[in-house]
This record gives sequence, C-alpha cells and structure tokens, in this order.
Amino acid sequence: MTIPTITLNSGRDIPQLGFGVFKVDPAETERIVTDALEAGYRHIDTAAIYGNEEGVGRAIAKSGIPRDELFITTKQWITEQAADRSRPAIESSLEKLGLDRVDLYLIHWPAPANDLYVEAWHALEQFQADGLTSSIGVSNFLVPHLERLLDASDIVPAVNQIEVHPAYQQPGVQAFCRDKGIAIEAWAPLGQGKYPLFEEAAVADAAEAHGKTPAQVVVRWHLQRGHIVFPKSNRAERMAENFDVTDFELTIGEVAAITALERDGRVGSHPDSFN
Ligand code: NDP
Repeated sequence: MTIPTITLNSGRDIPQLGFGVFKVDPAETERIVTDALEAGYRHIDTAAIYGNEEGVGRAIAKSGIPRDELFITTKQWITEQAADRSRPAIESSLEKLGLDRVDLYLIHWPAPANDLYVEAWHALEQFQADGLTSSIGVSNFLVPHLERLLDASDIVPAVNQIEVHPAYQQPGVQAFCRDKGIAIEAWAPLGQGKYPLFEEAAVADAAEAHGKTPAQVVVRWHLQRGHIVFPKSNRAERMAENFDVTDFELTIGEVAAITALERDGRVGSHPDSFN
C-alpha cells in the first residue's frame, strides 16, 4: 500500500495517514505501536502529555525500521510553562523517544489564558534551527491565535492539528490555514466513537457501494479532503482496516454527502477555554 504524502511548507514530506496514540495506556504502548508499524504505519503522532513517548520509542527501536522511513510527531504542553523551560521539554521528549530529532514538534494547545504561546513559538523556531525537529507547528489554534502568531514570528506553522471529523470540520480555520500554506491535521478523525458516525446514510451507503467498512470510508474522506489523519486503535485488526484505504476512491458526490454531515458537533475541548 502506498500512502500519499503531503509536502509541508518546511519542504518536508509527511505521510498523509499515520497512527495516533492519545489514550493509549503507557504500559501497552510498545505492543500497540509495534502492531501499528507491522501493519505498515510509518507516521506516529504522540505528545508529552500522553505519557507514552517511552513506549513509542521502544517500539521504534525494536522495529529496526530506518529512521528516515519514519515520521514522528510529539507536542509540547505549554500550560503554565514559561518558554524558558521549553528546551528541557523537547529534550525530555527526545530522550524518551530515543531520538535525536523529531520530524514535527507542536504547541499542543494555545491555552490563551496563560498567554505563553507566542513566546513558546519563538522557542520552537530555535529548536528547528538547532535541528531538534525538522518542522514545527501548532495544534488547536483558532484564527485569532494564528493571526497573532503570524504577526509576531518568522516561521509559518507547517501544520495546525485540530479537531476535524464529518460532524465538525472547522471550515473557517481550514480556509485560513489553506490561505497561509498551513496543512490541516485532523484529530479525532473518527469522532472518537462519540456519535453514530458509521450509521450515517452518507457513510454507510458509500461503504456498501465500495465494499469497504464505514471506518475506511471516513478515513478515505479525510484523505480526499486533503487532511492529514492518524486514527487510533488498540486493536491490530482495526489498525489494518484503517490503513487499507488506498485501493478505492469516493466519488465527488460521496465526498460532498459526507461533508454535508457538518453540524457543529465538537467532541473535544474548546481552544479558547482550555487552559
Ligand atoms: P479517533 O477518532 O481516532 O477514534 C478512536 C476511537 O475509535 C477509539 O475508541 C477506537 O477504539 C475507535 N476505532 C478506531 N478504529 C476503528 C474502526 N475501524 N472501527 C470502529 N472503531 C474504531 O480519536 P483520537 O482522539 O484517538 O484521535 C486520533 C489521534 O489524534 C489521537 O490518537 C492523537 O494522536 C490525536 N489527537 C490530538 C489531539 C490534540 O489536542 N492535538 C486531541 C485528540 C487526539 P479501539 O481503540 O478500541 O479500536
């Protein structure tokens, strides 16, 4: 299976489909990420706050996969953390991951009440210059946060990792990012299983038409919408299912019907109030 790549504004290529490890138990992470790598995933999305970077690192080391075939993202938690404590944070992540650089390093949430994200971004710009990460980006940034960041800095974020699934697509944030050359990474691509997405007629009908599962249709919809995605599963058979999405293509009408499921159905926290 050939997974498409997207070229980021940093010039680096990112596999459009990866594997996320939010809420993956640290004690199980090595086994789960090993299963994901065996299923063919080469892009792993973790974060310091997930507490499972060590397990990701052990799975990478054990796999023997050449470093340049992997794309590893982690994220910095800036809440109540001044930017002068920022370098120890990336150094700790690198040590846990067993890497001397990550491919992408993100500010996890803007946490506007703490008013630290511009300062934190300047630290990330330095990490990229120092080779600790190949690309830098943000997560959960809304348009006002991005406008402020762009005004105050030299490097445009390579990505904005935001909640996106059919019931909640943030079209305004997506349009702003597209205009600025910021790629969209869609977190909770399957809606975290928090609403009956797979039973929606637009999804179920497309699944039947293509002989695929509803989950595969939703992952495929993300790819055709240009999102970078990394669905999470603890189960090897679902990892394989979510990865097996390159042998069919949704029609323009099927993509439009799934896109029409938008109903402001956020399942996660709101970036303005999450501090
Ligand atoms: P997802 O939308 O990927 O949903 C995961 C849920 O879907 C799990 O309960 C999983 O269950 C289930 N699932 C997975 N595959 C299938 C399938 N084929 N059929 C049926 N159910 C399935 O949610 P996430 O929140 O995990 O989002 C993906 C990734 O995005 C995260 O792992 C993380 O890397 C990132 N993320 C980033 C955030 C941020 O603030 N930047 C916030 C949240 C997520 P099971 O495990 O039992 O298979």
